[in-house]
Amino acid sequence: MALHASLCAGKKGDPIVYVELVGKKRALLFDCGEFHLEGAQLRKITDICVSHTHMDHFVGFDRIVRASLVDDKILTIHGPKGIIKNVRGKIAGYTWNITDKLLLKIQVKEYDGTTIQTVFMDSKNQFKVKKLPIRKDKGIVIDDDDIQARYVSCYHKIRSYSYSVKEKLFFNVKKDALSKLDLQPGPWLADLKKYAQKNAYNNREMIIDGQKYTVTFLKEALLMQKKGTKVSFVVDVLFCDENREKITKLAENSSYFFCETPFLEKDIDRATETCHLTAKQAGILAREAGVTLFIPMHISKRYKEVEPILEEAKAEFANIK
Ligand SMILES: [Zn+2]
Ligand SMILES: [Zn+2]
Repeated sequence: MALHASLCAGKKGDPIVYVELVGKKRALLFDCGEFHLEGAQLRKITDICVSHTHMDHFVGFDRIVRASLVDDKILTIHGPKGIIKNVRGKIAGYTWNITDKLLLKIQVKEYDGTTIQTVFMDSKNQFKVKKLPIRKDKGIVIDDDDIQARYVSCYHKIRSYSYSVKEKLFFNVKKDALSKLDLQPGPWLADLKKYAQKNAYNNREMIIDGQKYTVTFLKEALLMQKKGTKVSFVVDVLFCDENREKITKLAENSSYFFCETPFLEKDIDRATETCHLTAKQAGILAREAGVTLFIPMHISKRYKEVEPILEEAKAEFANIK
């Protein structure tokens, strides 16, 4: 598997990033303003990570629901305090009396730094709200066999969440390593790769051809770790110490750093007043986080040309797309 990330509405449109899990028929969406995505792409979305619900970040939500109504899937929306009320409001804006052909289920997860509140709504049941047990919030929004996604809460007058997603550790079997240990390949290799992903399994013993081995030993002797892709998404944040520290930690070593660059440094007063970044500030964040590629976005419509913004960001961080 690999992660493929792309901007859905260009640099001046609403800031939306589509992250596809290649080969998995699955995708995540960071924010859902106005986008250019086809029905087939929308139907692959299993998770929407919402920064905050200012209109330019949330207006496209209905289109994703509409495209997915007859799909037997759970669409999960992750977001800050108020997201449950916001999603319920969207759903309540329509009439749901003919639902026999509908299969979509919606789950909303609201993170407040301490707890995660979850509600579940089934289209079959007119999206009636069912509350699920409250869980502890550890800053992790998705954690499954393929990916782990996290968030940090940033200041934007209200809270705006920044997100990152990375591929889980990925292992290949080293060439000739099996024959060196005189082992035959088998289903145990898949188990080993699974155990290798979590340190908790290091001391576990595996019996292969009647011989006992620890996971740590086999991991070192047989497996080679491949660096997974990491994608970060930062929008609508003030350049202040709190945000700076949280964002550089979240985005550390990202392969792709999607970050807002709405203003030029000469308009820093407007940026500060509206709690947004300048291109220069975003470039500083990219450098401090040690990212590989920085993709500027959410450029204010007040500027006719995007070039000066990109030039300003480039002066701080050269590898820009
Ligand atoms: Zn915005
Ligand atoms: Zn905003």
